[in-house]
Amino acid sequence: MNRPKRRFARYAVLAAFLAAVAGPTAAESQTIAPIDALAVRVAGDGQRTRFVADLTGSVDFSVFTLADPSRVVIDLPEVRFSLAGGSAGEGRGLISAYRYGLISRGKSRIVLDLAGPVTVDKTFILPAAEGQPARLVVDLVAATEVAFMAEVANFRASLAPPVGDDPAYVAGNDGVATIVIDPGHGGIDSGAVSPWGTLEKDVVLEFARALAAKLGETDGYEVRLTRADDTFIGLSDRVSFARAERADLFISIHADSFSAAGVRGASVYTLSERPSTMRAAELAEAENRSDIVAGFAIEEDTESGVADILLDLARRETMNFSNAFARNLVEEFGERVLLHRIPLQEAGFRVLMAPDIPSVLVEVGFLSNREDDRLLNSTDWRDRATDSVVAAVDEFFRVRLARGVD
Ligand SMILES: [Zn+2]
Repeated sequence: MNRPKRRFARYAVLAAFLAAVAGPTAAESQTIAPIDALAVRVAGDGQRTRFVADLTGSVDFSVFTLADPSRVVIDLPEVRFSLAGGSAGEGRGLISAYRYGLISRGKSRIVLDLAGPVTVDKTFILPAAEGQPARLVVDLVAATEVAFMAEVANFRASLAPPVGDDPAYVAGNDGVATIVIDPGHGGIDSGAVSPWGTLEKDVVLEFARALAAKLGETDGYEVRLTRADDTFIGLSDRVSFARAERADLFISIHADSFSAAGVRGASVYTLSERPSTMRAAELAEAENRSDIVAGFAIEEDTESGVADILLDLARRETMNFSNAFARNLVEEFGERVLLHRIPLQEAGFRVLMAPDIPSVLVEVGFLSNREDDRLLNSTDWRDRATDSVVAAVDEFFRVRLARGVD
């Protein structure tokens, strides 16, 4: 592995990412005139409701419906919503409320919450004329639940190729899936320390390197490490790195520690606002302290600040993928290494918060357990455990490629 080159690539990509989120350059602004939303409004009643957005120019847009909860979604190229009332408004008639904002770079979205089942009757855009702005119009009519669900099903069926999806969602968009392996902690932050002197940051780095090497031998995977040496990296920088790399999968590697020395085995965690157990909540809190340990201020997640609740849509899909991969992983671990009593759990890990990248955190074993401590330092165990991860990754991408989009 060419470490200096790898590190250079990492920082180059991080710089490009930071430049990108800072906004378009003057040259880019000249070539693409930004569209502004001047006003949005809702008119009508419980039988027929019209949503209108006044824009400074015409745009291509797409409209689709989603259930649970019932919504109509309008996807647009990047539109600047500098409207009074923030990023949301109250509805009327068939629309109970609406929100708008950026969902990713270059893409904006309007979400209409529905008061009841509807069908989308008409959608059109009137070009700007005679001093009047362009008007994007979506007409909804009251419908039966059955008709609504049929529209939802139609949209889902039309999802090949995926609509409105970031290319990063689709494995192998160029035949190559990018996997980011994230060895936890590093540098000033040692993570857990075993009574026998093992440092979490060291064993997870060894594990991550071995895993990256194995995955890298497989055609079709592009593998990146968030750190390849004993460097500290902040939690949000790990997430930003994965996003800048347009990762299709993010695997964070950690080793656990617990007051009861008998507790052992591997476990897999996915992101959830509601922790599955008290212990999962405590673990997430401990892992989230990494930045504090390293003397960094906890930054607000700037991206969630921008896109707020709209990210829910992308996030739900991402979570489904994360959970699917986590299940694969538990199954594969189960065949080769010892699992924890509750092997699949969820909690609010900051490092799993990329809204658009399936992400899991693996606690490969307990440094507080003598046998696990020995295994974590053994090449034989590491070989079996990394084989498990490779098998789970293969299964994950095999299923995704077969389905196109879930
Ligand atoms: Zn850790």
